[in-house]
Amino acid sequence: MGLVSAKEMLVKAREEGYAVGQFNINNLEWTKAVLLAAEELNSPVILGVSEGAAKYMTGFKTVVGMVEGMLEGLGITVPVALHLDHGSFEGAKACIEAGFSSVMFDGSHYSIEENISKTKEIVDFANQRGISVEAEVGSIGGEEDGITGAGEVADPNECKMIADLGVTMLAAGIGNIHGKYPENWQGLNLEVLGQIQDIAGKMPLVLHGGTGIPEDMITEAITLGVSKINVNTECQLVFAEATRKYVEAGKDLEGKGFDPRKLLAPGSKAIADTVKEKIELFGSKGKA
Ligand SMILES: [Zn+2]
Repeated sequence: MGLVSAKEMLVKAREEGYAVGQFNINNLEWTKAVLLAAEELNSPVILGVSEGAAKYMTGFKTVVGMVEGMLEGLGITVPVALHLDHGSFEGAKACIEAGFSSVMFDGSHYSIEENISKTKEIVDFANQRGISVEAEVGSIGGEEDGITGAGEVADPNECKMIADLGVTMLAAGIGNIHGKYPENWQGLNLEVLGQIQDIAGKMPLVLHGGTGIPEDMITEAITLGVSKINVNTECQLVFAEATRKYVEAGKDLEGKGFDPRKLLAPGSKAIADTVKEKIELFGSKGKA
């Protein structure tokens, strides 16, 4: 199956009360690990690509070519969306033209008026092409590609204004942050999430910064309308840890242990294991 928009899989997730994982990719190994894990558990999946990661992989077209080739080469049958994560206005348009099946336009750092007008333009551009759109209200804390958000809590009325533009899914800051959570973190603001759900109706909601949120908070957020959960840092941490163990054990010095196909294998397996754990936790196993 070729790439699909995230719309159908998220509407189904919202109706049936589970969430689809967005796993950010950085290279071939990452992509292969995520796709094989989703296929094994028969789960829909969203591949997230930040503009920085796309630049690292030499551009949006390279990413599209790699992912489309891999869907065919690996015989992937589960629904897969290729999604721009925290896109700029220009980046979102360029991604759509390059063949992504879903984009996030992050206008949360603009005034609400400017966020609305720019989101509307992206929605019109995407809708004509059958591409799903994620919008954001209220910045998400931590740093992503050099953009640092303060982690504010979104205004439910502003969420309603953005949701009404025809976006597919809505990311709202509810105290979640990117990267590792600090020890004194206050937790997710589930009260505001409930208010957003009340006001935004059946709109699938997106939870960013999925690394390190306690499991009970994740499952409660899903009952409050969260249908897409973004996981990025956790895969990076387990990949680095597994690779470090391999090198520290001196395995790269044994036989052909320096072969990248061997050197990167433990890290790839660690990513796949993490993705499978998240799919189980989010409830999307068997939902392809
Ligand atoms: Zn994010």
